[in-house]
Amino acid sequence: MNTNNDIVLLLEDLINFESVTPDCSDCQKYIDKYLSKSNFKTEYIKFDDVQNMISTYGSGAPCLAFIGHTDVVPPGNIDTWDSQPFQLTKKGDFLVGRGTSDMKGGIACFMQAVREFINENDKIHGSIKLILTGDEEGDAINGIRKLVENKTFNKNELDFCLVGEPSSSDIIGDVIRNGRRGSITGHLTIFGVQGHVAYPEKAENPIHLSSKILNQLLEIKFDNGNDHFPPTSFQISNINSGTGVDNVIPGNTNITFNIRYSTKTNHNEIKEKIMNILDKSGCSYEIKWKHSGEPYLTTKKEFIDICKDSVKDVTNLETTVSTNGGTSDGRFMAKVCDEVVELGLTNRSIHKINECVRENDLEILINIYKKILTRIFIK
Ligand SMILES: [Zn+2]
Repeated sequence: MNTNNDIVLLLEDLINFESVTPDCSDCQKYIDKYLSKSNFKTEYIKFDDVQNMISTYGSGAPCLAFIGHTDVVPPGNIDTWDSQPFQLTKKGDFLVGRGTSDMKGGIACFMQAVREFINENDKIHGSIKLILTGDEEGDAINGIRKLVENKTFNKNELDFCLVGEPSSSDIIGDVIRNGRRGSITGHLTIFGVQGHVAYPEKAENPIHLSSKILNQLLEIKFDNGNDHFPPTSFQISNINSGTGVDNVIPGNTNITFNIRYSTKTNHNEIKEKIMNILDKSGCSYEIKWKHSGEPYLTTKKEFIDICKDSVKDVTNLETTVSTNGGTSDGRFMAKVCDEVVELGLTNRSIHKINECVRENDLEILINIYKKILTRIFIK
């Protein structure tokens, strides 16, 4: 691209790697090389086909870790894009390309921020880490989750985790996240006995059984939420039954439900309450669970305040601290770090055709990240 703007050139290089999940490109090696010029040392940890990298500058406390992913979602049908998805393209105030917002833009800003920060400050006391995975957009099994499960980090080794996911809504810095709700899905089958509608005594109607059970499930009060989370919500997303004709009582009913839950409960408690009702009903059933994420919440104020104040310094915005949205790798880091905050670019175009970032937002985010570094390392 015809520019002499460092951050644009850096992002252009990152976008060029076709790093669809699991990222098998050389994107992480590129980042390693860039950081090594500022004396970062990089270690690679591979689980199956997923490469993860940990780059460290300095040593000891305080330790700030930037958490991110180099993988991106597939571009979809390339013909529907206005430009090549893996080639950064300028369009007015925006830079278009897969991963510009989610989240190579955030990674590039942090890379540039640390380079400038280290150049401008002779000595910092403590350490800076970039912990990047190639497996966030997929099942997220061999990425940050595995690093945490394999005890790559000691408890209290990381003082602050900054997840660089696109947390902002309309304007950069308007929303930061200090947690996320958990998510669990149940696939329930209620078995009846198929038969003729004219002889109900010889059949057992699974739709009738289900309606009674569902009413009871909907009545469960899992919790009242708290200051940070709304009450846990049980939502039925699918009900399927019937043979397609009007004179047959079907043999079973399939129901799918999802629960977004707060930190006032946990997935075992949720399962127990639901299974209790199913067992008491006396009906024959089968249930398969998919637990896709535990909730997390940062209650300590120090890092939240550092992030809020840094946003305020640069943008003059009063940040909203929220736990909305889907799940993120923050949930895994929260097991080894008490202060996890998500702060990054805006999320308006993520995963879409023509994903883009406002060029000026990159400068703003670099400045926010530099303020955070200053607040932590320059006393
Ligand atoms: Zn992401």
